[in-house]
Formats: sequence, structure tokens, C-alpha cells
Amino acid sequence: MPRPIRATISLSALSHNLQVVRNHLELARPGSQDKTGKSFKPPFIWAVIKANAYGHGLENGIRGFAGADGLALIDLNDAVRCREQGWRKKILMLEGFFEQADLPFLRANNITTSVHHIEQIRMLEKMPAGKPLDVFLKLNTGMNRLGFRPADCAARFRDLLALQKQGRVGNIGFMSHFSSADGQPGAIDEPLRLMRQAIEGLPGALSICNSAATLRYPSLAFNERENWVRPGICLYGASPFDTPTETATAFGLLPAMSLRAKLLAVQRIAKGESVGYGATYRATKNSRVGVVACGYADGYPRHAPTGTPVMINGVRTRVIGRVSMDMLTVDLDPVPEAREGDWVGLWGQNGPHIDEVASHAGTISYELMCALAKRVPVDIEE
Ligand SMILES: *Cc1c(COP(=O)(O)O)cnc(C)c1O
Repeated sequence: MPRPIRATISLSALSHNLQVVRNHLELARPGSQDKTGKSFKPPFIWAVIKANAYGHGLENGIRGFAGADGLALIDLNDAVRCREQGWRKKILMLEGFFEQADLPFLRANNITTSVHHIEQIRMLEKMPAGKPLDVFLKLNTGMNRLGFRPADCAARFRDLLALQKQGRVGNIGFMSHFSSADGQPGAIDEPLRLMRQAIEGLPGALSICNSAATLRYPSLAFNERENWVRPGICLYGASPFDTPTETATAFGLLPAMSLRAKLLAVQRIAKGESVGYGATYRATKNSRVGVVACGYADGYPRHAPTGTPVMINGVRTRVIGRVSMDMLTVDLDPVPEAREGDWVGLWGQNGPHIDEVASHAGTISYELMCALAKRVPVDIEE
């Protein structure tokens, strides 16, 4: 029998959240015709499924985001698995390819790649002529992680045009990634200016919005170009923001991952007694303490301090003491009827929001989702 801990992945929440993003974009669409008579098509959506679909499982991501226009990830093996699972629409490699030997796989599987480094252009030049690869030229507009300097955009575009003439490259688009779309308003102004200046007069699709930019600045996805947004975290039902108003719930997003575990034991402790390693929590009165079958080896954050919320039988209570490898302890005083065998909601359905747990633990929901351990059995909810 498995330990009494379960994660649930809701495929309907994934597809619901994708629709929330579509609706959100649709509301920002300028009237079907603007003054100059241009029409604005709805943007296309790459559902980002890197890191095992943010811990939700690659196959679940593929199924949950069946309505997306493309999938974006970073591992070529996963991209090939998407094809094997029957994904026929576009696939984007966010970091591109890593070595010459990757190129035949990209070609054979009709995968779009970002091109962010001169070495990648050299590898494309060495590739035997054959089926053309669609590419997105990635520009560094201030993140200073991947991408060409905006000043080099025109030259790299010409390199790619030459490859296009040789039949090695197909469509050429442009992409960039914001460092602070969730930050101060105005934080995207300079990156946007750099991007617009760099690609002015160069034809091609554009992809710049992650979740934060898609939710906060949806109108960025509308201009005379073909536009692709790249939401990740919001599709899993968490918010990229840490403001009090821009919560996942306020956007209508549903949590796709839930984690729960059973109470293994109930202890009665006297006033003044401590709980757990380091004796960091000391009872101020006689109390009941619940021991939950979930620890940091399951992916629960060890840094979650006393006070991190959990839910038992619909009642909110809190973690007390240190989280250990296989167990954590909770305050049962607010839930006097709780007993061994009761489920404790750690996050998601029947639990606190994952964003709340992350914030208590001094991290972000992305990290909690990705850290869900292999040893936790997963139920898939259609
Ligand atoms: C991870 C990633 C995204 C998605 O980011 P979220 O904050 O999860 O929306 C988009 N674009 C790139 C290049 C990424 O690496």
C-alpha cells in the first residue's frame, strides 16, 4: 500500500486556465478594425510545459493544453515525446538546440527553435540542406540571460535570411523575455522600446509575453504582426504576481495541482513542550498536534515556518515546528474533531492556495510545483 499522500492533477483546470487566458486576451483586442483598417487577429498561445509541465507531468500538460496553438519547452526528448503522444501542432524550443546532433531531431519532428547564440547560427549553416526549420530570433532586451543584443538583430536576421534562401530555415520570428513584467509598472518600457526598435522594418512573428505580461499587458499581443504569447505559471492556476489584488482567483484561474496527506498520529502536548527538530515551536497551552504524512522529501518546502496554512475538514489551521523529511506537524486546536486518518489539504483543492504556501515559505509557486517528488502518487482528474 502506498503512503497516505496523494497529488491530484486536474486536466479540466488546465484547459479551463487556457480558456481564461484566451478570454483575457480577447477582451484586450482592439475593435476588429482600427482607424487604418487593419484587423487584429487573436494572438496564438504557446502553453509552456517545460520542467515536466511545471511538475504536473508532461502527458498531463499535453492533454490539458490540447486547445493551445503550440507547446513550448526546453528538452528535446520531451519535444519528441510530445510528437509520440500525438501532438501535431507547433512545438517551440525555448532555449533552442544545444549541439549539431540535435538538428536532425528538430527537422524530423517539425520543431520550431529559438536562435539566441552565434554558435547556433554556425550549426544551422553546417546542417545539410533539407527540410527548412522555423526559427525565432531571440533578443536580449535586459534580462541578460539568452539572446542577441538588439543592435545585432539586423545582422543576425540577415544570416537567417541567407539560410532561408538555402532552404535550411523556414519562417523567421522574433522573441524576447521580460525580466520584470510582474514588477513596477514601467519595468517593461525599456525592453519594449529596444525590441520595437530592433525589429522595425523586419518582417516576422513576435513573441514576448510570459504569464505576467499576458495578464497585465494583454494589448501587447496585438499589432500588425502575428503574435504568440508564452504563458506558463498562470495555466497551472497560480499567479505570477505577489500583489494583493492580482491573485490567481481574481483572474478566474483554477489550481491544477493539489497535494494532500493523512494524519498519521495525533499527539497531546502540555504547555511548554516543544514539537519537532530544533524544538522551534513551543506550546503556550495544552494542545493537540497532528502529524501529517508529508515532508520535504515529498516536495513540501522545508522552509515553511510555523503559521503556514493547511486545511483539515474544511478548517484552516497551520504548520507548527520544522518540516521534516517525511512528516510535518500541524496545530489541531482549531479542528477538535480531527483524528488519525483524516486528510490534510496542503495546497490546491481542499487546501490553501499554493501561492499562499509559497509566500509563507519565502518562495514562489513555480518552485513548489516543480519540486513535487516522484514518490508522491498522482491521481489524474479528467
Ligand atoms: C518559463 C518561460 C515562460 C513562461 O513563464 P511564466 O512566468 O511561467 O509564464 C515564457 N517564456 C520563456 C522564455 C520561459 O523560459
